[in-house]
Amino acid sequence: MLNIVLFGPPGAGKGTQSNLLIEKYNLIHLSTGDILRGEIAAGTQLGLEAKSIMERGDLVPDKVVIGMISSKLDANPNANGFIFDGFPRTAAQAQALDSLLNEKGTSISRMLSLKVDDQELIKRLLNRGKESGRADDKDENIIANRINEYNNKTAPLKDYYSLQDKLSEVEGIGSVQDIANRLNEVIDKL
Ligand code: AMP
Repeated sequence: MLNIVLFGPPGAGKGTQSNLLIEKYNLIHLSTGDILRGEIAAGTQLGLEAKSIMERGDLVPDKVVIGMISSKLDANPNANGFIFDGFPRTAAQAQALDSLLNEKGTSISRMLSLKVDDQELIKRLLNRGKESGRADDKDENIIANRINEYNNKTAPLKDYYSLQDKLSEVEGIGSVQDIANRLNEVIDKL
């Protein structure tokens, strides 16, 4: 199986690149942000609980997102592999993901971490906010909180995967196709 953690701060291009990778390598895209927004749109209890947390730009509790990923893995037993987008975001999530995959006799193949500077991230997110209407992309204070959460709780996961010899850092600036080519180059060597 090919199991990729597509990593990087909010606005790094994880969603855009995931859509290209799932086509090219026949993978299943698991984005916890997309799943949570789906729950909100469907008006579920989980969505109700997550909504205000997401609108502040804070992280949803580990237990909630780990449960969501666990059921998606169970629902796709014959997958060729997965792209994890926006998950894991904490050490507890990374450990849970390793043990969920281990139970299924597989593991993470590689973490691909997209590097983009803060100024570019803020510009991209504000632009996306105008098009998508996402509340958490419209307000600079909320964007700053999301980048803060990333720096404090999520960025340290690069060390977690580096210790397993699984980290590749990829320049996330340039055209969508340039960045895709850089990602493909790493994956094709696996
Ligand atoms: P994203 O679409 O990945 O930018 O996520 C949007 C928001 O959903 C985040 O700011 C968090 O509030 C929440 N979220 C998504 N994935 C996770 C996760 N793995 N852990 C905690 N919160 C998450």
